[in-house]
Amino acid sequence: MSPDDFRRHGRAVIDWIAGYMESVETHPVLSRSEPGEVRARLPQHPPEMGEPFEAMLRDVDEIVLPGITHWQSPTFFAYFPANASGPAILGELLSAGLGVQGMLWTTSPACTELETHMLDWLVELLDLPERFSSRGPGGGVIQDSASSATLCALIAARERVTSGACNRSGIDRRLTVYSSSEAHSSVEKAVRVAGLGSDSLRAVPIDASGAMKADALRMQVTRDVADGATPCLVVATAGTTSSLALDPVAEIAEVCESHGMWLHVDAAMAGTAALCPELRFVNDGLESADSYCFNPHKWMLVNFDCDCFYVSDRAALINALSVLPEYLRNEASESGDVIDYRDWQIPLGRRFRALKLWFVIRHYGIEGLRAFVRRHIELTHALVEWIEDDPDFEIVSPPWLNLVCFSHRAGDEVTQEIMRRVNASGRMYITHTRVDERVVLRMCVGQTHTESEHIERAWSTLRQTAAEIAAERG
Ligand SMILES: *Cc1c(COP(=O)(O)O)cnc(C)c1O
Repeated sequence: MSPDDFRRHGRAVIDWIAGYMESVETHPVLSRSEPGEVRARLPQHPPEMGEPFEAMLRDVDEIVLPGITHWQSPTFFAYFPANASGPAILGELLSAGLGVQGMLWTTSPACTELETHMLDWLVELLDLPERFSSRGPGGGVIQDSASSATLCALIAARERVTSGACNRSGIDRRLTVYSSSEAHSSVEKAVRVAGLGSDSLRAVPIDASGAMKADALRMQVTRDVADGATPCLVVATAGTTSSLALDPVAEIAEVCESHGMWLHVDAAMAGTAALCPELRFVNDGLESADSYCFNPHKWMLVNFDCDCFYVSDRAALINALSVLPEYLRNEASESGDVIDYRDWQIPLGRRFRALKLWFVIRHYGIEGLRAFVRRHIELTHALVEWIEDDPDFEIVSPPWLNLVCFSHRAGDEVTQEIMRRVNASGRMYITHTRVDERVVLRMCVGQTHTESEHIERAWSTLRQTAAEIAAERG
């Protein structure tokens, strides 16, 4: 494809994306595609000869779009958001255009230095503890996901508690890991990948708000130590996936300190709230954490993937992950004056993700980003009021941010049927969880273009559906 052809087709693609942004609400939010339907429409074999670009874009419309669940729809309330924005998409495009591999400082100094700088900006933006800035022994790095951040935290923790022995000769003792029973599944995955095994993960009980009980943690750790285990890592969650509960990080940190455990704080979704000074309590206790992560790709307008991972002492991470073959040796690395981010993550190669983060922060500015978070919280409050005023529905856990957990009073079956029908209607998309064995609907307000009309429409769809079901049941 010549630069001139690229210009032409590139304009068509940008037009396509802009058109999609304008029309996203016309599609059913949850894809109606049946299993195998997309593949059935694709040719059995790859083409012998090259095809015109127009044909590809046409197939995106005809084959791909029906198989898309519209995460960018303003009535997408399922899971957690993965919101995107114009500046992020353009940053992503530039990153692809430059096609940089940022594994070493020397393989593109700008890729590394812009990333370090953005992560330091975010320390300031979110008022994170200074220990996470690159000015001291700590620092931040962009990972693909919070799951990778948790795995890296575990690997660094394992390195520290075994004084590096595990990386030379394998794990020679029983290491234990702790998180609340509401922690994300990525903690168990990390424990498996790191070779500790699922049995080494302790699910610490939670209180009524869904937060880890620090006393229960202390007791479990004491038991494990008496049993001959070496406590390695605690993953505290600031904003659990089910209900955005906040683990008591400061109390957990005390337990970690008395047993030499690494403390990782996972704030994948809720971390963004700290943009707003009035919500900085999401960072409570963070000054004692060894590592921290949050996902700008969830709620900060940066399209997937972009997880910001911080460590207070980068030495443990780098010692655990740095393997230096001859072909990667270079003067800059040897000088010790530069960061080689390959040593801060599992893969060697890495994309230039800082560009989209830079574009988003510059395009919206701090105030723009704050306004966005505040608008979502306001919309959430409106929704909560309507639910509270409706005798048929009830709020299940007190919402403090942008997630509402609620149920129909008629019980699980009706609650589940409401979800099935509103999702089938194509008008909105919500998902569920279980709180105290009860089916609970989750509505997370976090899409880039969600406004009050969308919340109103969603609420009226929910109410009408509930009324329909009640009428059918007599
Ligand atoms: C969403 C979420 C994750 C997983 O995020 P990925 O970036 O997709 O790995 C982990 N932890 C919490 C608390 C989450 O909300």
